[in-house]
Amino acid sequence: MPTLKFAVLAGDYIGPEVMAEALRVLGHVARQEGFALDYTEAAVGGAAIDRHGAALPESTLQTCAAADAILFGSVGGPKWEKLPPNQQPERAALLPLRKHFTLFANIRPGLLYRELADASPLKSERIPDGIDIVCIRELTGGLYFGQPKATTTLPDGDIQAVDTMVYRRSEIERITATAITAARARRKRLCSVDKANVLETSVLWRKTVTEYVAKHAPDVTLSHMYVDNAAMQLARDPNQFDVFVTENMFGDILSDEMAVICGSLGMLSSASLGAKQNSLGLPFGLYEPAGGTAPDIAGKSIANPCAQILSAALMLRYSFGLEKPAARIEAAVRAAVTSGTRTGDIAFGRPSVGTQAMADAVIARL
Ligand code: NAD
Repeated sequence: MPTLKFAVLAGDYIGPEVMAEALRVLGHVARQEGFALDYTEAAVGGAAIDRHGAALPESTLQTCAAADAILFGSVGGPKWEKLPPNQQPERAALLPLRKHFTLFANIRPGLLYRELADASPLKSERIPDGIDIVCIRELTGGLYFGQPKATTTLPDGDIQAVDTMVYRRSEIERITATAITAARARRKRLCSVDKANVLETSVLWRKTVTEYVAKHAPDVTLSHMYVDNAAMQLARDPNQFDVFVTENMFGDILSDEMAVICGSLGMLSSASLGAKQNSLGLPFGLYEPAGGTAPDIAGKSIANPCAQILSAALMLRYSFGLEKPAARIEAAVRAAVTSGTRTGDIAFGRPSVGTQAMADAVIARL
């Protein structure tokens, strides 16, 4: 019986609430499909600060390094907001995890079921069939990591801050390869988003993506779009995209715009894949909901567990190569939600259920 070895980092506020349900769904599928779960829970974020004095303790890092994937909840919240910025749970846990495991490719499905069209701020006639697109964001390069990065006082007494946007061709090639794989699993249409009319990094980005797709994926239809136009097009007609790929900061902003047009954060999953292969020869990855710790609803057992459950499905697909169970979980979530079982964030005035009952409904449809 195959055994899936992964680290579970639930984090703060609603993190542990939704993680418990995702593990329950995974356990159910594992029994049905004949695989075993071997997971180790470790502290991260504010919970780790309270227990170990650091948002990403060495013991947690070691647990992750010994695993084939990380199932992550979310970290941070008001309790730790007064800490210095570089000790904040998100910055001190997530960014080092991405860096340590070279998690360079963030895959975010932008999925809104037709039945949930009310959740989108877009007029429903613009999205009669809901939304189904994918954002691929480069995650370890660009402005967030480039050096120099500093604030200095100039000789004339003025203060200057510098961030550096830097990309190597090899970094652009590997994210393009991920985007090609995603596009091939869908409608084979890839849009590369950049700012090549202004930025040197974008000129290299566009040239590299064009050459790489021409050489390695002539079956994929490639287009290019400037990031300012992409922001408008996402709000105007999101389904014109199939898969879009972009650099770190553009992807940070566009993926959040995509999340808002797709309605509740409680439904959106994400995968961050690494350059490193796991013990199965598949990408090591970190899988997490798109939203945060939702302190406003934590402790009430009303958070939507679907994003965490769908993140677990992505883990099965990418890090364990288990496409069938992954697709079964996705279909079960869809069936549960579209047949009317809804948590408060997607209920729109209808009766709503709690976190556990939502997961029960998913399990019932497996
Ligand atoms: P948030 O995503 O936590 O919440 C925004 C809104 O969405 C809230 O109204 C919340 O109730 C709702 N929401 C989010 N997830 C939900 C779910 N599963 N079910 C139902 N409703 C849900 O964003 P925020 O309030 O800006 O941030 C709260 C904390 O989370 C902050 O400390 C922030 O730094 C942290 N955060 C962490 C991550 C991460 O760990 N990756 C990501 C984003 C924010």
